[in-house]
Amino acid sequence: MAIVDLRSDTLTMPSAEMRRAMADAELGDDVFGEDPTVNRLQEVAAERLGKEAALFVASGTMGNLIGVLVSARKGEEIIADADSHVFLSEAGGAAALGGIQVMPVRTEAGVLTPAQVADAIRTEDEHHPRTAAVTFEDTHNYHGGIAWPLEALRAASDEAHQNGLAVHLDGARLFNAALASGAGVDQLAACADTVSFCLSKGLGAPAGSVLCGPAESIAEARRWRKMLGGGMREIGMLGAAGLFALDNMVDRLAEDHANARTLAEGLAEVGGVKVDLSRVQTNLVIFELESMAVEPFLEECTRRGVRGGAVGRKKVRFVTHYGVNPGDVQEALRVVGEVLA
Ligand SMILES: *Cc1c(COP(=O)(O)O)cnc(C)c1O
Repeated sequence: MAIVDLRSDTLTMPSAEMRRAMADAELGDDVFGEDPTVNRLQEVAAERLGKEAALFVASGTMGNLIGVLVSARKGEEIIADADSHVFLSEAGGAAALGGIQVMPVRTEAGVLTPAQVADAIRTEDEHHPRTAAVTFEDTHNYHGGIAWPLEALRAASDEAHQNGLAVHLDGARLFNAALASGAGVDQLAACADTVSFCLSKGLGAPAGSVLCGPAESIAEARRWRKMLGGGMREIGMLGAAGLFALDNMVDRLAEDHANARTLAEGLAEVGGVKVDLSRVQTNLVIFELESMAVEPFLEECTRRGVRGGAVGRKKVRFVTHYGVNPGDVQEALRVVGEVLA
């Protein structure tokens, strides 16, 4: 049975052409700064995002952790949306490894208003930790792939900067965000000091993220990467996958967005499914079930060849990606209808 795997866009397999680019990559020792392919990827990424420098890191989690570590010190606090990946899904890294506390802020859709940023900043008081930075997430994963309007990101970022905070942008799906908002990745990146984006999700590379920012922060980031055990050697193969992804996999994200839209509109027609179509803006579709618990629903779907994920205990997440075509979307809709019938 062919499986329609909608659990995550991290499941994308490198294409045959990407594998060829990887096999042909020129290599060197990247801790020595001598891997020409990784160096090229870092240059291209920095240029695309309009930043001075960039650093290849093992994962989005490492990119965010290092982004936070260069923005705040032990005993300080960072502001983050309460449903953000940084707060919920990075194993408490900022606290465990940086001694940095996260101040979670509840939002409607993962988009912080300037007032929410301002209100979360601690006043000068010996009882309080000092607020050093804020992180924003675009697109916002657990809020369903919502893309920040450029003006909203700019306003929140300006508020943070006016208050002396550093801004880290968790742009795991930054290219999806740009596509949905109509803004350039450089315009979104300009709202932050440091930005991390994933190569390993919709862009289809097997591994890696890139942290971009000012040269000074990226030099500091290199030290942290080494300390975290993320200094790798002849990794030009991964660099080549990343370069291939930036050259060939960005424009096709529109197909994933179109497939997600079809999927969401189809789900909205199925009895027992509650989906807010206004929140389906990119390649994630989050929906609630009115007549069935999430776990047995996902089990029944899996038995019929369609896999999805849970968000918390009450919601299901389907993700479209390079390995999902319009036929797969129809198959998923058929299976969901059957399971809920
Ligand atoms: C996936 C994801 C990350 C982390 O990426 P990994 O490579 O899985 O560590 C960070 N932030 C968001 C919003 C994500 O969706």
